[in-house]
Amino acid sequence: IKNIAVLTSGGDAPGMNACIRAVVRTGIYNGINMFGVLQGYQGLINNNINPMDARSVSNIIHLGGTILKTARCLEFKTEEGLDIAFANLKARDIDGLIVIGGDGTFTGAQRFAKKHGVKVIGIPGTIDNDLSGSDFTLGYDTAINTVIEAIDKIRDTADSHDRLFFIEVMGRDSGCIALRSAIASGAEAVLLPERETSVDELVAQLESGASTKKSSSIVIVSEGHKDGGAYDIAKKVKERFNHYDTKVTILGHLQRGGSPSSFDRILGSRLGFAAVNEILKGSTMQMVGLRGNEIHTTSIEDALTKHSFKLENDLLEMTKVLSI
Ligand code: ADP
Repeated sequence: IKNIAVLTSGGDAPGMNACIRAVVRTGIYNGINMFGVLQGYQGLINNNINPMDARSVSNIIHLGGTILKTARCLEFKTEEGLDIAFANLKARDIDGLIVIGGDGTFTGAQRFAKKHGVKVIGIPGTIDNDLSGSDFTLGYDTAINTVIEAIDKIRDTADSHDRLFFIEVMGRDSGCIALRSAIASGAEAVLLPERETSVDELVAQLESGASTKKSSSIVIVSEGHKDGGAYDIAKKVKERFNHYDTKVTILGHLQRGGSPSSFDRILGSRLGFAAVNEILKGSTMQMVGLRGNEIHTTSIEDALTKHSFKLENDLLEMTKVLSI
């Protein structure tokens, strides 16, 4: 392998820049010519592939977003799209590709590697922490920090006015952000896609808090909860419980931005470094991840298909105990 390209694809996540920096510099350190692809798979198809040197990734470790930009690209899902992308890589003699993204990105990478034999390594970059094979995905820790910073501010106003706040956080299929945010912000209750919490149960919990003189309450709702989003849950609760004035906040896309936490800067650096070393060893169709504070590789196939339940049991138990 002499030439390697790197791209970011799908939803952006804080820490992607630290990761790009590590990929580019590890490659150059090992004598490889490095290329950056702009706008994910769209850039492969549009031939937006540029050489990168060590200085091209200076002063980006602390930046959110991704300097390589990201995009959703439908054309890459077609056979013609895969062929055009390959022709553009071949013209530059690029035979290794590192993709930073989520499960959609990995599905595309897998098809591409199988069809054209390009060596592909995946790096899990998504705030949702919804890939198996890595305890943490890149951007997840920063997203939680962003959420708890917002909740701290909401708590000030909730407490001043004796209010009940329903705060919706990201996570369509995964309650990871919701659960950790609940513990770290001291929320009264949390509703997760993985768990059935009935409105009855929630009302009982809020009643018990009100009876012991809680002056305000925060309930965190994961966007993927089966009973609906924060507005739906708030409406149902309000019909039966009106000790407090009820408000709803949807945090939305602010959860995807911001300067990465130290954890995500280090994780991005470790995974970027590991991805290049894997590709230099000749590996392909593997994902590098962190398990128990060590770097582990998992086949992209397993990362996509072996869904693991990632909510920590002690945290689940604690949500009830610590909120009395
Ligand atoms: P994420 O990687 O965050 O899950 P997406 O699901 O949007 O984000 O996927 C990112 C991109 O990966 C898509 O826009 C598309 O270009 C590519 N992709 C997804 N699924 C496939 C597929 N089956 N074949 C080829 N490319 C795919």
